[in-house]
Amino acid sequence: MTLYHHMTLYLKYRPQTIEEIDITSVRTTLSNILKSGNIPHAFLFAGPRGTGKTSLARILAKTINCEDHKVQPCNKCQNCISITNGNNIDVIEMDAASNRGIDDIRLLRDAVKLSPANSKAKIYIIDECHMLTTEASNALLKTLEEPPVHVYFILATTNPEKLIETIKSRATLVQFTKATSREIKRSLERIIKSEKLIIKSEDIDKIIKIAKGSFRDAVKALEQYSSDSSFLNEDLEADSSELVLSIIKKDIVKSLEIIKKSTNIENLTDELLDKLHQILIETQDNSIIPLIEFILTSKEMVKYSPIEELPLEVALIKWVKLPQA
Ligand SMILES: [Zn+2]
Repeated sequence: MTLYHHMTLYLKYRPQTIEEIDITSVRTTLSNILKSGNIPHAFLFAGPRGTGKTSLARILAKTINCEDHKVQPCNKCQNCISITNGNNIDVIEMDAASNRGIDDIRLLRDAVKLSPANSKAKIYIIDECHMLTTEASNALLKTLEEPPVHVYFILATTNPEKLIETIKSRATLVQFTKATSREIKRSLERIIKSEKLIIKSEDIDKIIKIAKGSFRDAVKALEQYSSDSSFLNEDLEADSSELVLSIIKKDIVKSLEIIKKSTNIENLTDELLDKLHQILIETQDNSIIPLIEFILTSKEMVKYSPIEELPLEVALIKWVKLPQA
């Protein structure tokens, strides 16, 4: 099971208009800014993963560059279509996790000076911008302070507290939050309706619970459900308890078996951490600290792994192979 497989519905149903943004507060903030007709040149989208920051960045990029010049993107013109497809040359998406150094920002500063190729404006979407080095952040700040008229910046981050203050004060903050059950439901219903899926309302509730406030996880779960509804019956509680027992006994074969049959690695990992946390607090047994650290690292790696379960497997194997203290 790979991440890509479960991303298809999510990508297909990414919000394409302001109305389709499911977080009410974000929707209101953005429509007010757009109605005012005065779009700031630097935005900071801050909030948890899977809450729609990148989707909104693209909607905003379309609104700025739409050939129809309305407060909403038309989603039909060449500019809108290419932005939706991620291949518009004037909308540059950059992942600061892998382009974090001063040289990357210097390149960006030179590129910013050039006029857009086919559109009104060039739009830079810099994801995970808290990952930039301090040097790179300061270089970016210079550009944010005097942006050319044809340039807009949308910075996105899950960790705004790690950004330098001066960048924060230069950008218009849009705060994303974990979605409420009602917001997740709104999003799921939009998909269920257009995909003509048949799903019991109690199963929708279960999916909402699994999603823990993330649209991405909700849609992922819905997609999994549509290919095999039995996964909702998977007993995470029992599986994670069993996994804790086997991993503490360093029974790697059993542990890998449990991971293999799990259809929800992310939640299994969270349950596992939850249980280890309890054990740590109750026993203050420092021998399990490396295990906890390995698993925490695996949660970071998931972003880069095409195989969802691989980082957790690596973490557990590292732990089992650790020389006894
Ligand atoms: Zn358009």
